[in-house]
Amino acid sequence: MQFEPIKKDFKRPYIIAGPCSAETEGQVMATARALAEQNIDLFRAGIWKPRTRPGAFEGVGKEGLGWLKRVKEETGLKVTTEVAKAEHVYEALKYGVDVLWLGARTTVNPFSVQEIADAISGMDIPVLIKNPINPDLQLWIGAIERIYKAGVTKIGVIHRGFSFHGETKYRNVPRWQLAIDLKRQFPDLMMICDNSHICGRRDLLQAVAQEAMDLNYDGIMTEVHPRPDEAWSDAAQQITPAVFKELVASLVLRQETTDDAVYLAHIDDLRQQIDELDDELMKLLGRRMQASEQIGEYKKRNNIAILQTTRWNEILDQMMVKASVLGLSENFVNTLLRAIHQESIDHQEKVMNQERV
Ligand code: PEP
Ligand code: MN
Repeated sequence: MQFEPIKKDFKRPYIIAGPCSAETEGQVMATARALAEQNIDLFRAGIWKPRTRPGAFEGVGKEGLGWLKRVKEETGLKVTTEVAKAEHVYEALKYGVDVLWLGARTTVNPFSVQEIADAISGMDIPVLIKNPINPDLQLWIGAIERIYKAGVTKIGVIHRGFSFHGETKYRNVPRWQLAIDLKRQFPDLMMICDNSHICGRRDLLQAVAQEAMDLNYDGIMTEVHPRPDEAWSDAAQQITPAVFKELVASLVLRQETTDDAVYLAHIDDLRQQIDELDDELMKLLGRRMQASEQIGEYKKRNNIAILQTTRWNEILDQMMVKASVLGLSENFVNTLLRAIHQESIDHQEKVMNQERV
């Protein structure tokens, strides 16, 4: 697949902003006017809102499309809204919506994505595809393929974080690595960070937007409302146009690389150190697995089970203490040790059951 950017010759960061939902004509116009002054690239507003429980505000519907049309006419801004079924696509196109976006709850459902793909087939309208609510890269790629096969080449993806069971600091936990894997497979795919739905709260918005910039994201999508506390949906994460202006101004943009010879020589040096360390890490891990296999062999002879919970807990506890001294995060060490432990179990399992195969 080969993609084109949503906007020709766009400059990073590509800025998408606007309210979570279109609520009233006044609210939409006030937000749009303030954002037009900031020269944003695309104005967002949800017209049909996917709500977890019935009875919550489900969007103003078709009426709001007229307001988006007015935004275009009066401010010159391009506009985008979420579409979740064919009927939404037809209505949005009728009112001149410039860019369509697929929400997380739509990307997760191939039937819905296909329905939308069929509805836009043959139209040259850019489409932004949010990640599915669960961290499944194939599902995300599947949605991109369905839209691409409908003839759309101006496709962008939006990382809005993933649902997580339990307490987290984010509303939807970002999985940067997953988005990086996507970018590795499709380098020309435009990648936007929806910091609003990742954070779910105002105080983290700037840091997450900056993190996205540091990871070479092409832009951000942020929810902006003239009176955030009174918003009919997602009040806790929306910010005023003035606060948004500060957020954008605060973003530090870094170049992907440079041709400065001194820089290149020094970075080469540092990278060589990393390569050597990675090499050592691999060798060490290989040796660790050999030791595990010996343990497996020995346990087998003595008819002892592979999993020793007490021993595993001891290792985890000891390593956590060492990790904090070394400045490694608890989360990282936990993930790393679990992966190593799983690989060890697999090696021991192989040794134990060799004869049965
Ligand atoms: C939204 O952008 O307002 C929205 C509903 O987002 P998501 O699909 O990411 O939940
Ligand atoms: Mn929202």
